[in-house]
Amino acid sequence: MAQNRYDAIVIGARCAGSPTAMLLARKGYKVLVVDRATFPSDTLSTHILHPPGAGALAQWGLLDRLTGTGCPPIDTYAFDFGPFAIEGAPGTEDSPVAYCPRRTVLDKLLVDAASEAGAEIREEFTVEDVVIDDGRVIGIRGHGKGGESVTELADVVVGADGRYSLVAKAVAAEQYNERPQILSGNYTYWSDLPMDGRFEVYVRPGRGWAAAPTHDGLTLVVAGWPFGENGANKDDVEGNYLKMFEQAPEFAERIRGAKREARFAGTAVENYFRKPFGAGWALVGDAGYNKDFITAQGISDAFRDAELCAAAIDEALSGARPFDVAMAEYQATRDAHVLPMFEFTCQLATLEPPPPEMQHLLGAVHGNQEAMDGFARVNAGVTSPAEFFSEENVGRIFAAAS
Ligand SMILES: Cc1cc2nc3c(=O)[nH]c(=O)nc-3n(C[C@H](O)[C@H](O)[C@H](O)COP(=O)(O)OP(=O)(O)OC[C@H]3O[C@@H](n4cnc5c(N)ncnc54)[C@H](O)[C@@H]3O)c2cc1C
Repeated sequence: MAQNRYDAIVIGARCAGSPTAMLLARKGYKVLVVDRATFPSDTLSTHILHPPGAGALAQWGLLDRLTGTGCPPIDTYAFDFGPFAIEGAPGTEDSPVAYCPRRTVLDKLLVDAASEAGAEIREEFTVEDVVIDDGRVIGIRGHGKGGESVTELADVVVGADGRYSLVAKAVAAEQYNERPQILSGNYTYWSDLPMDGRFEVYVRPGRGWAAAPTHDGLTLVVAGWPFGENGANKDDVEGNYLKMFEQAPEFAERIRGAKREARFAGTAVENYFRKPFGAGWALVGDAGYNKDFITAQGISDAFRDAELCAAAIDEALSGARPFDVAMAEYQATRDAHVLPMFEFTCQLATLEPPPPEMQHLLGAVHGNQEAMDGFARVNAGVTSPAEFFSEENVGRIFAAAS
């Protein structure tokens, strides 16, 4: 039996769902957010939050809450390629630093912000299906813990339900730019591994790892090998994880003096874009677009999706523009923004040595502080790879090096 009618129902209350709900609720819409999880809770993900993501939190009035949790700021990105290293500042004047907040903290903060904005939050609510009438999504069917199935109706149902999105499946959302898993990553947390505000990335043939300071004095260390090697490596994750650090003796020494404080977690992900809208439905975050985690763009991308999608839904619900027109612009803006980073990410995730011309360029970037900051900003998702690797910019870097 239908109990309520909402302007929007959002399935999934993490990085994509809660901000989408918060932004719609702040505009006065009646919003329901459901998630089968309870909050705070962790999820399978590392959690570098690049300066654009921190900037979104600041714009929403939430950054002070995050810094208030004691999450250490990160002002330097350091890329160690073996023969040389590139160190730069990842941010902009408006959003100068990155963070690495535990998802237990970040996601809870986002859920609370959506609730404070007026969205109704139902935790431990599992959506079983979307309700479709005459080809149009009109609501959801699901149940609270141990409860009966209920139906809730809305003008639009937003799938913020992650990579295995039930909404995307139910509406058979068109998928494009698909690439299978490329990299397999494993991570855990260490004490006594001080980072002094640095996010460190190590690139070695067939191996890559990164370390960043997070809450509670811990350091997140995530390490990856090619997906194809997973079968051979998965029975000794710890041994293979530790072995790769020997390729950077100073780091190996530092981690020998540290203590592992958590179990290993790890996975590999598929890469895809999905059409993020159709009659009565929309997709945000990983439900609509996913890429390998090597460049750590997912949370910032989810925040940007939330902004774009909520603005488009507002236009549609307020009658300013037809739903299809507003949402087509959301899709076009998203795709244009992320496509160069998608390609860059898929290339990096192969862990193959950079082609000779790239090695030459990185060699020229090394030591040129402006170019090193530029390279850090590419990895932070601040500057598009298309811009940084443009003929003009590359010419400038080589000219400065000669
Ligand atoms: C190993 C790994 C490392 C990563 N590292 C980083 C990083 O360092 N930085 C970064 O920015 N990104 C990283 N990412 C990506 C990041 O985790 C995602 O992009 C981000 O979590 C997407 O948020 P989301 O809200 O779209 O989806 P999710 O975080 O997946 O949330 C989806 C929510 O939907 C709920 N849900 C799903 N189905 C249902 C249902 N039927 N009923 C009710 N609830 C449902 C789930 O319970 C969940 O809470 C990483 C990902 C992985 C896998």
